Amino acid sequence: MGHADPQAERAALARALARELGRRAFHGERGLAPPGPLDSLPRRGSDAGDARTVPSAPPGTEQAVETSLATSQPESGRPARGPAESGREPGAMPPKPQGELTPAEVDDRRAAVAARAARAGSLDELRAAVADCTACGLCASRTQTVFMDGTGSRGVVFVGEAPGEQEDRTGVPFVGPAGQLLTDIVTKGMGLRREEVAIANVLKCRPPGNRDPRPEEKAICTPWLERQLELLGARVLIPLGKHASGHLLGTPDASMGSMRGRSHQRPDGTQVIPTYHPAYLLRNPGDKRLCWADIQVAMDAAGIPRPGR
Ligand code: SF4
Repeated sequence: MGHADPQAERAALARALARELGRRAFHGERGLAPPGPLDSLPRRGSDAGDARTVPSAPPGTEQAVETSLATSQPESGRPARGPAESGREPGAMPPKPQGELTPAEVDDRRAAVAARAARAGSLDELRAAVADCTACGLCASRTQTVFMDGTGSRGVVFVGEAPGEQEDRTGVPFVGPAGQLLTDIVTKGMGLRREEVAIANVLKCRPPGNRDPRPEEKAICTPWLERQLELLGARVLIPLGKHASGHLLGTPDASMGSMRGRSHQRPDGTQVIPTYHPAYLLRNPGDKRLCWADIQVAMDAAGIPRPGR
């Protein structure tokens, strides 16, 4: 057996290698070049992961309401994100632009919020659920939800309308000059520490530009507040200002003068004693005496002794 020509052997090897490279390139096989930017894209199939995986539920149940909301179209321009990516629990509601909810959608979303609120067994659980809420369009512009301040250990809950700019930034209701006046009402007027009352709002998210809350926003958000009051064991509610007072009393068009100055009883026995909003009192200090009269009615209802008595 004779020796082959080394030059011919190298040429044959080069041709074989070139054929193999061409075959791999044609079939798209990897391994001959380092991965490029396209290699990081997810592939189709089971390893790519579904963008949305929402468990199905029997129609007619509360879970079904939430599930149907979770599978509706997301707000235009916002990428659809699955629960794992967003950190939301399955059934969290996708946001929708303001003014695009039909009355039926408002009812559905309110029912879904009520179902989620009812599942919260503690204020901490409720706070966490609220922080994740996307039931109305205000979630798109908020910095964070504003749940409440204080413990409500004396049975009194102050209820404002909605967070403002500073509240949205800090996550604490009633900060700034109006908040300081409310703190003075609690500490200097009622003789309590601020943390002994609870301070919350009808809405948990700030309306952009501090505009008035829309009826559908209040309708959807109210079950959070109702569950909050239930978990707090509130006995006396002091709504601050016309909007919060009218909302809690179910008389949105009533004047402040017609609502304040007395106690209203809700079906659950809770006393509602409306008074002026601290921001109004900063502009109209002459009405502070009327506010103080309301606060004394509230203290009597809550069994809080008046200072000096
Ligand atoms: S305002 Fe209320 S209902 Fe709307 S997103 Fe915030 S917490 Fe949810």
